[in-house]
Amino acid sequence: MLVSAKDMLEKAKAGHYAVGQFNINNLEWTKAILLTAQELNSPVILGVSEGAGKYMTGYKTVVGMVNGMLEELNITVPVALHLDHGSYEGCLKCIEAGFSSIMFDGSHYPIDENVAKTTELVKLANENGMSIEAEVGSIGGEEDGVIGKGECADPNECKAIADLGVTMLAAGIGNIHGKYPDNWEGLSFETLDAIQQLTGEMPLVLHGGTGIPADMIKKAITLGVAKINVNTECQLAFADATRKYIEAGKDLEGKGFDPRKLLAPGFEAIKATVKEKMELFGSVGKA
Ligand SMILES: [Zn+2]
Repeated sequence: MLVSAKDMLEKAKAGHYAVGQFNINNLEWTKAILLTAQELNSPVILGVSEGAGKYMTGYKTVVGMVNGMLEELNITVPVALHLDHGSYEGCLKCIEAGFSSIMFDGSHYPIDENVAKTTELVKLANENGMSIEAEVGSIGGEEDGVIGKGECADPNECKAIADLGVTMLAAGIGNIHGKYPDNWEGLSFETLDAIQQLTGEMPLVLHGGTGIPADMIKKAITLGVAKINVNTECQLAFADATRKYIEAGKDLEGKGFDPRKLLAPGFEAIKATVKEKMELFGSVGKA
């Protein structure tokens, strides 16, 4: 059964580790992430962007697939199904479809409007036993066509949004989505520390986990980050393994064209990436 991310993230923050959010795109992605979480006895959050939700034909399909897998694969570790960077309308749809967690990305609204919409969604999430993530300060890079620059959030705005009763808070601390440019200045631990001082127990979320050096990840966890989003890294691992299979001509040997064989190396590559991240984040054995 899907669970809210609240308990797993409060435990993570108190225990000084982080739970990974791994974004899903299809059956292979979902199965790879769930099996790895179960093998490592780790809690896990499945992230679904609005674009990926649309690609999978809609949120109801996603809920049906994930719930089916939890049962058929005998998954017993805590699993949350979370809308990533949701619009107001997207959040309403996911509440209706049976997600267990939502993110409302109101970072592009003026702070007053972000507050008003977040307040309304917090109420709905609470009524439905769901966790809700809010974002302050736009996170750089490209997320479904929305391009931001990698700003640092205003700690006072973070406090204002945290006080609305959200479960977890994403704040820009110089992180960006996708691959990091060579001239990237790194995470602003000063900003992160100031945010944690003001928001106390609130689990903080680090977006754009791909390519942040391991030592920076570990330091961010010591400063209150309890959820780390990973998306691009699984995509790169899947593409690389699939390309190698094709380039080696394996699809031309015997039944190598069978999709269950063709997609297997990419599936294994996602599993290996998820395992590596869970070990780095410290969530192994914490289910
Ligand atoms: Zn993000």
